[in-house]
Amino acid sequence: MEKKIRVRFAPSPTGGLHLGGVRTVLYNYLFAKQNKGTFIVRIEDTDQNRYVDGAEDYIFDCLKWAGLEPDESPRHGGAFGPYRQSERKALYREYADKLVAEGHAYYAFDTPEDLERMRQDFKTDENPSPQYDLTIRMKMRNSLTLSPEETAALLQAGTRHVVRIKIPENRQVSFHDMIRGDVQFDTRVVDDKVLLKADGMPTYHLAVVVDDYLMQISHAFRGEEWLPSAPVHILLWEYLFGIDQMPKWAHLPLILGPQGKLSKRDGAKYGFPVFAMNWNDPKTKELTEGFREKGFLPEAFVNLLALLGWNDGSEREIFTKDELVDAFSMERVHAAGARFDYEKAKWFNHEWIKKTDAAALATPVKKLLADAGVHTADDALINVINVEERPLLPSS
Ligand code: GLU
Repeated sequence: MEKKIRVRFAPSPTGGLHLGGVRTVLYNYLFAKQNKGTFIVRIEDTDQNRYVDGAEDYIFDCLKWAGLEPDESPRHGGAFGPYRQSERKALYREYADKLVAEGHAYYAFDTPEDLERMRQDFKTDENPSPQYDLTIRMKMRNSLTLSPEETAALLQAGTRHVVRIKIPENRQVSFHDMIRGDVQFDTRVVDDKVLLKADGMPTYHLAVVVDDYLMQISHAFRGEEWLPSAPVHILLWEYLFGIDQMPKWAHLPLILGPQGKLSKRDGAKYGFPVFAMNWNDPKTKELTEGFREKGFLPEAFVNLLALLGWNDGSEREIFTKDELVDAFSMERVHAAGARFDYEKAKWFNHEWIKKTDAAALATPVKKLLADAGVHTADDALINVINVEERPLLPSS
């Protein structure tokens, strides 16, 4: 039986939502709506060190502004909750233990000093930053090198430990990416990633697989930066749930700025927004500008995002959200990076402003003016907005 279509956007609440993040939301949303499926937002907050206050609220505010609201989330409810990974902490341990029991993972008791020593001792010219992997694991302090009795005693005594995946030697693991086609990895280049941390929290690798399974995710769309993690996830799917249960995957192309991957710094340097809405970082007190505050209409924002990496095969560029729901296809997303061009973004906004009637524009314009200290009457404002649309007639 075909799986019900269930997709998810899985942000970590670590800061503002940049263009790439909102585009991931959009492609998930379009795919879900097109297939009468369910769009889920799951908050991946297992890394307590990177947690930023206010980031979760900000993400939901952005989705609301852009008109891309999920069907299930910590805010919208649903039958597969809780939707915040920190609230699911207790359920990951059993999967980690199962992996250990079946020989696919092991307990590692190395202290931070042991790990530092490892990085120094095994450093060579060819391998300047050695990883905890199959060449090194047998030289470390873990349940593969200790006797079962020693391991049991350490666990019994509550010794701090992590659980690491035991990457198999000499295996090719592969999957079919909806955008990139068949992708293959050699396990020799994959390290023994931590699955469960010393504080009992899962890492992203374990949590993403367990939750995609428990939430019955049919398709997982995420940024290209996650491609190197794919072999770890494929192995976990194979060991825990069976590879036939794995969602179909697509790794979305990077968004490129003037110099490589588009970054927050590009925004500040070149004076364009890279976040959906203004983001005030509570830690650094730094403000990153957003499209909303720059006067972009949500319709224009959604339209320009959709075209960052996708087209319908024609020259057409202007789409409403509903038209995108009909036209979108993941197979037509390009694998190569998509260049962000602010002039083009402004052109989209201009087209959308032209399409929107003056009365609807009056509210956001009034707010922008009020923010700048200018107060206007509605009818006068509507008349002024309309001027742009009317050709100036030569006076007779
Ligand atoms: N939590 C990951 C992130 O912040 C999600 C990656 C995924 O969708 O699997 O991007």
